[in-house]
Amino acid sequence: MQPILIVHGGAGDIPQSRIKGKLDGVRVAVRAGYDVLKNGGNALDAVEAAVVAMEKDENFNAGYGSVLNLRGEVEMEASIMRGEDLNVGAVTLVKDFAHPISIAHKVLTDSPHSLLGGEGAKLFALDKGFPTVPPESLISENAKQALKDFLKHGEFGRTEIGIMDEGGVGTVGAVAVDANGHVAVATSTGGMSGKAVGRIGDTPQIGSGTYADDKIGGVSTTGHGESILKYCLAHSIIKLMEDNVDADTATKEAVKGMTSRLNNTAGAITLSKNGDVGVYFSSKRMSWAYVKNNTLFYGIEHDQVFEEPYSS
Ligand code: ASP
Repeated sequence: MQPILIVHGGAGDIPQSRIKGKLDGVRVAVRAGYDVLKNGGNALDAVEAAVVAMEKDENFNAGYGSVLNLRGEVEMEASIMRGEDLNVGAVTLVKDFAHPISIAHKVLTDSPHSLLGGEGAKLFALDKGFPTVPPESLISENAKQALKDFLKHGEFGRTEIGIMDEGGVGTVGAVAVDANGHVAVATSTGGMSGKAVGRIGDTPQIGSGTYADDKIGGVSTTGHGESILKYCLAHSIIKLMEDNVDADTATKEAVKGMTSRLNNTAGAITLSKNGDVGVYFSSKRMSWAYVKNNTLFYGIEHDQVFEEPYSS
């Protein structure tokens, strides 16, 4: 089949000043991922490549540029899933590695476990040869400002994520179906500004932040983590699709359902196993991009779709 890859750069009340950076960033990321598929690579490597591109980019809340916890530290989380055999890898409370998604991928391939956290994740990563980076090197000026703003005005979980900050939103994710029909999904985040030390959100939790099943499709989510995990948002979308709801409707229905039940916002990107696309967010904005049939589609506002030719 024709391979397809979609990415998101986080749902939230993204300020005007961040729109351009996010739209540029999702287009770079979708190309990085799609190039892997075009060169015959598999879905798992493609979603990792797309997420790595956004972990490098300070316009997103993942890797460098991650938001800060109440102690002013970065604590990152990531998960990745392979739809062929439902194998997963996830890490949480990662403080001093540049690419949590690559460690999660290694957990999937090289560990008998599914989710490693904190000290254990670090020991595993060191054992597998990942180099540490100084924790301060992951902190951007925007993330510092976002924490300051949060401490002045924020009430965790009661406000739209990032309502008054410049760096508070932007979890990243990617979903791909490769030429062999295999589905993979990856999601990576710094969490939410002003989170408690040790807080674990939806992103590393399979069924909440990430889900992939070759028999159905794949989903990556973003938004208010505590609500997403209570609703098992990624798997709720998959479940609707299993009951023959199309990718677009399933994404819309589940995100709206979560928001009306739990009164917080989220967004999701979805691909069916046949490459049908679903993009929906109940937040003000969410950046997304996908490549299908040599065209790159992208947007950030509701009902907005830009397109340009894709060339690698
Ligand atoms: N879902 C993430 C979290 O709560 C935040 C986000 O998507 O921006 O950790």
